[in-house]
Amino acid sequence: MKEAVFYEVIWDSLVQCRLCPHRCRIADGKSGRCRVRKNVNGRLFTLNYGQITALNIDPIEKKPLYHFYPGSSILSVGTFGCNFRCGFCQNYEISQIAETGEKLLPEDLVKLAQRYKSQEMIGVAYTYSEPVVWYEYIEASAPLIKELGFKTVLVTNGFINKEPLKKILPFIDALNIDLKGITEEYYRDICQGSVTPVLEAIETSKAFGAHVEITTLLVPGLNDAPEQIEELAKFLANLDRDIPLHFSRYFPRYKFNLPPTPVESLIRAREIAGKYLNYVYLGNLPDASNDTFCPHCGALLIRRDYFGVDTPGLSGDTCRQCKNKVKIIL
Ligand code: SF4
Repeated sequence: MKEAVFYEVIWDSLVQCRLCPHRCRIADGKSGRCRVRKNVNGRLFTLNYGQITALNIDPIEKKPLYHFYPGSSILSVGTFGCNFRCGFCQNYEISQIAETGEKLLPEDLVKLAQRYKSQEMIGVAYTYSEPVVWYEYIEASAPLIKELGFKTVLVTNGFINKEPLKKILPFIDALNIDLKGITEEYYRDICQGSVTPVLEAIETSKAFGAHVEITTLLVPGLNDAPEQIEELAKFLANLDRDIPLHFSRYFPRYKFNLPPTPVESLIRAREIAGKYLNYVYLGNLPDASNDTFCPHCGALLIRRDYFGVDTPGLSGDTCRQCKNKVKIIL
């Protein structure tokens, strides 16, 4: 166990965690809503520091990040715990149930990254479960990873308070933030969270200059209504029309047994969002075309298929055909 950052003693041995917007008040011997922060004798400790439940080298496209070193791979690590309770969680075995993992301290993660160093392997992604509730581990390891010249990535629900987010952003190169829907009701009823802090986390990360892509899992009948898709896309477009948005197909999982999202719903969402955003992709849909085209002249910039990624239309960050700059990091 490691003592948590961002908490305060509010009375006797009662503490309040300030890491995420739940702001749990936690009595001695109890844990917060994420189950991985526990009050022990009036001090708050993290239970998942240095605990790994999943470790792989993944294509960067799997995070998904499509405009950040396309075709590269990334050492991907995850722990257990989450500050949401999404009924459709695709990783519930580690986010909602697991209570222990394999030990891998920050210095061991750094050694591992060095061992796998290659031209294609660009760094470390904190992913699989929720990295917000792994904050201390990321704070300890990400600066060391960056010192080696590697990139760091967070794949997160973005449900974090502004102060801790701002403190960690200098050590994070790219984020894929789940924007699970656009209504407060959806976040409250389905995820036991709130949308406003997530929107603020997206704004803060963009304003800081991090590379940001967004994923929205479309659940039939719950968050795929055209007006909701439009509102979500407009919010992102107000920040930057070039933010890549990934609509992902839902499949029955954990507590949800609704049928999978109809393909037509995903295609309709792409059409609607595409009126506002330059890059909209479809995930969990093997037959979908997810090539990238120049928003200025329509030339093919990046071709993606099962076997890989190539960039026939790019010369650095410039479209070969029209010579305009595009926001793709190579
Ligand atoms: S990080 Fe965990 S303990 Fe802290 S406020 Fe969020 S849910 Fe509660």
